[in-house]
Amino acid sequence: MIIQRLRPSDLAAIDAEAAVAMPELPEVEVTRLSFADRIAGAVVTDLKLGKPLRWPLGALPQAFCGQRVCTVRRRGKYLLLDLDDGLLLLHLGMSGSLNFAPQQPQPGPHDHMDLVTDRGTLRLHDPRRFGAVVWAPSEDSPEARKLLGHLGVEPLQGGFDPVAFHATLRKRSAPIKQVLLAGDIVVGVGNIYASEALFLAGIRPTLKANKISRPRADRLHAAIIDVLSRAVQQGGSTLRDFVSAEGKTGYFQLQAAVYGRADQPCRVCNTPIRSIVQGQRTTFYCPSCQKS
Ligand SMILES: [Zn+2]
Repeated sequence: MIIQRLRPSDLAAIDAEAAVAMPELPEVEVTRLSFADRIAGAVVTDLKLGKPLRWPLGALPQAFCGQRVCTVRRRGKYLLLDLDDGLLLLHLGMSGSLNFAPQQPQPGPHDHMDLVTDRGTLRLHDPRRFGAVVWAPSEDSPEARKLLGHLGVEPLQGGFDPVAFHATLRKRSAPIKQVLLAGDIVVGVGNIYASEALFLAGIRPTLKANKISRPRADRLHAAIIDVLSRAVQQGGSTLRDFVSAEGKTGYFQLQAAVYGRADQPCRVCNTPIRSIVQGQRTTFYCPSCQKS
C-alpha cells in the first residue's frame, strides 16, 4: 500500500471543501480490507455504545454477545458485518474511522462504538457523529433496504456494465458531473473521483448526460473504474485525518490530475485548470482537454 504523507506546502492547495471531505468509497474499501480477514470468525463478547450516532442501533447491545462475525462486505459506503443473526451496517459519516486492534486504549470522547470480540475490538471514532451502527435482520429487510435500497451498481464489481451505463445516461438531462454524484446509477463516484474520471474521459463536467455518445460513455465507464481502483490501491485519498483500521493515518492523494488544482497547468497540455461550482460542489476541469 502506497502512503503519501501530506507536506505543509500541499495544504495550501486543498480547498475548503476538501477540509470537510467525507470518507468515500475507496476509504471505506481500504478500511474493509484492513480488518475483514482478521475479524472473520471472531465471536462478539460485548457491544459498547457511546453518544448517539445518526440512527439508533435497532437492537439491544447484549443481543450481540456470543454471535460470530462471519464476513465483512461493502455496499456503497456501508460496511456490512454478517453475524449469526442478521447484520450490522456501519457508516463512517462525515468524519468516522474504524480501528480493529487486539487491545484498545480507554475510549476517548469521540469513540462511540466498541465491538469487542475474542480476537480484538473494532472501534468507531467519529467526532461529528454522522456515522451509524445499525442492526438489520437481513439485507432484504426494510431496515436494511431503507439505507441500501437507493444505491446504484458497484463500480468495482461485475454489475457495472458499459452498455447499461450509457442507456441510463441517455435518460438524464442534468450535467454529467451531477448525475455521477447522485450515486443512483453507480455508487462511489464522489466529488474528487467525478472530476478526475471526467478529465480522463475528456468530457466537460457541464455536458448534459444525455448528450454523451456511446464511445464517450465507454471511456467514462473505464475512467471511473480506473480512478477508483487506483484510489483503493493507494489507500484512499480524500481525508487528511483518515485512519484505516490498521491505524495508518494522514495520507492524501497528491497526484490528482485536476482536483484541487485551479489555475495550475494541466498535466497534459499546460492549460490552466479551471474551477466552477456545480450544485454547491467545486468542479475542476481542463478547458482544453475537456472541450465539450
Ligand atoms: Zn489539458
